[in-house]
Amino acid sequence: MRAITDIQNFDGQRVIVRTDWNVPHDAGTILDTSRVDVTLKTIRWVTSHNGAVIVVSHFGRQGESMKGLSEIVSEILPITFVEDPFSEVGVELIKGLKPGEIILLENIRKWPEEEANDEEFAKKLASLADIYVNEAFSNSHRNHASMVGIPRFLPSYAGLRFLEEVSKLSESFNPEHPFLFILGGAKLETKLPLIDNFLNIADQIFVGGALAKPASLTPLAQNPKIVFPKGDIAALDADSETLTELREMIRTAKFVLWNGPLGNYEKGYNQGTKELARMLAESGAKVIAGGGDTENVIDTMHLEGKFYFISLAGGAMLDFLAKRTLPAIEALQ
Ligand code: ADP
Ligand code: MG
Repeated sequence: MRAITDIQNFDGQRVIVRTDWNVPHDAGTILDTSRVDVTLKTIRWVTSHNGAVIVVSHFGRQGESMKGLSEIVSEILPITFVEDPFSEVGVELIKGLKPGEIILLENIRKWPEEEANDEEFAKKLASLADIYVNEAFSNSHRNHASMVGIPRFLPSYAGLRFLEEVSKLSESFNPEHPFLFILGGAKLETKLPLIDNFLNIADQIFVGGALAKPASLTPLAQNPKIVFPKGDIAALDADSETLTELREMIRTAKFVLWNGPLGNYEKGYNQGTKELARMLAESGAKVIAGGGDTENVIDTMHLEGKFYFISLAGGAMLDFLAKRTLPAIEALQ
């Protein structure tokens, strides 16, 4: 994979930067801009090295507009919003882009060809620019036109945050030992491939949260590497016995990977998960954490700075950890 920083002078070329600016929002209010913030370095690399940027992103459901977000982003980046890049006005704006300028296209899922991974659509998007950058690791498990289609038609590069997600998450494939994997949350079927992959790598896998009960009914229950909660296996939160057990495991671990809360925290059963976050933050081990809900807990406790790495990639992180690659990584290679 080539990094976008391999290019030192863009010579006025146009660069599509595919981001995941699908930030949490509610009825038009933007709740958190982390997903924008992590892409700024890549965008500024291009604009400060004589290039122009066309930001392409999805945002919520198909009918939702990025116009509101564009106004918020324009407070930190000089950005022009383009509703339709294929209209006369849009084409003119894009052709006239000068080095240092940035435009944001409307929610790319507005065009159904995006999710259908339509080849002609990918070609049309590619024709807007000279270079493509994937700065949307968190969407890289999707076989969509702007993720895997455009790289077939343009010289393609990885963005800085994308590369950081790949390199940091990959450390868990070759970790320091003892390596403890803590897996909580829900929907066991989505997490089984992860357990499969890490049974060969981790020294211990703690399976908690709403996964514990269903996992205890599978052959995993006989595997000596798998550890279940000490107390009530179907509890709505980790109890003190379970937290003591975790504290002991964390004490000796050098490397920890954590995904998934231990309790039904949005209903108030959050004490166990918070205590786990605190124990990990203070552990001195190299800790990588990720998952939408997990990240949310760490953020609300303001413990981000105490972790070695927090993935913002959600479902893409789970897929990458299970398969060690993603469709959009393949497309860049
Ligand atoms: P992440 O987004 O971090 O990957 P998941 O989406 O897998 O995490 O899991 C989060 C969900 O799991 C939350 O809705 C939470 O309420 C639920 N959950 C976790 N532990 C329990 C539990 N012990 N009982 C019931 N629900 C739980
Ligand atoms: Mg979740």
